[in-house]
Amino acid sequence: MENEKVRCLIIGSGPAGYTAAIYASRANLNPVLYEGLTPGGQLTTTTDIENFPGYPSGVAGTQMMEDLRQQAERFGADIRFGIATAADLEKTPYTITIDDKKVIEAETIIIATGASAKYLGLPDEDKYAGMGVSACATCDGFFYRKKVVAVVGGGDTACEEAIYLAGLASKVYMIVRKSYLRASRIMQERIKHHPNIEVLFEHNAVGLYGDPGVEGVHLVKRLGEADESKYDLPIDGFFLAIGHHPNSDVFATYLETDETGYIKTIPGSPRTEIPGVFAAGDVADPVYRQAITAAATGCQAAIEAERYLAEYEFKQAMKL
Ligand code: NDP
Repeated sequence: MENEKVRCLIIGSGPAGYTAAIYASRANLNPVLYEGLTPGGQLTTTTDIENFPGYPSGVAGTQMMEDLRQQAERFGADIRFGIATAADLEKTPYTITIDDKKVIEAETIIIATGASAKYLGLPDEDKYAGMGVSACATCDGFFYRKKVVAVVGGGDTACEEAIYLAGLASKVYMIVRKSYLRASRIMQERIKHHPNIEVLFEHNAVGLYGDPGVEGVHLVKRLGEADESKYDLPIDGFFLAIGHHPNSDVFATYLETDETGYIKTIPGSPRTEIPGVFAAGDVADPVYRQAITAAATGCQAAIEAERYLAEYEFKQAMKL
């Protein structure tokens, strides 16, 4: 297998990874960044980002990620396409296998692999994958122009997806299992006043039907209650927006995670319990999960990596 030595390896290319790359390259750590499955991360599948300081009119997620990438490259970050498929964090230098065919020996590692969309776990989600089931409105909404779609979830993501889809589809149903939306007040107001969006509170999706693609969803209203009822709702597209799963599986043997899989770091820092291994952004953040907080922890991780490397390389040189 091909082998390469690097001082600072960054895995992941959302705001955390790119910000880490900007800081690490400016500190002469010669970082190598592997972009992962979704170059640019989750924000490339969102619409406008309106809450990142410095953009009074908002900015498209894809644009912000492209800007961050270019900024990192300007200072010399080596940005590559590839996915971390295995890790050995037993001893230094740590090794990360890329695409099952290349081994990177790294003195420091910044894990910024983010999080991925969750699915309900219905067999029909697999059956209709790419045939009416999606977890990304921005990616797939285009296929549902003037059609009827449903979005599952009641958080900010679901509301954002519903509003985006309502600009394309003729009708958007939101399938919400509780009697209220969890989303922020401003999002709730937008949903409430949108003429194309109808919220189905206290509803659960339990299956899909159609041949060959999705033609409808099996719904249960007030699941488990005395007045529980079942009915079918004709739709053309079924969008999941029920939260995310942190992409920590490759590292889980070595790093402590919480019950959901978020990597645990030393409070107030991106340091993990393994010296020289840092976790930044959504993969380690079950609480805030914002672009700005991800960028901030990416910065912290790069500063920590620089400090760690200074000591590590000194000890190596002195044979301590
Ligand atoms: P959330 O965890 O906030 O919401 C998930 C939603 O999905 C909830 O309504 C939840 O229901 C529902 N859900 C979860 N599992 C199931 C299930 N098995 N069946 C049915 N419904 C289910 O995730 P989001 O992705 O919406 O948001 C994550 C974070 O990112 C939040 O902090 C949010 O504020 C932030 N965010 C901010 C944005 C912005 O500021 N522009 C945009 C998008 C996200 P229940 O309430 O019953 O648990």
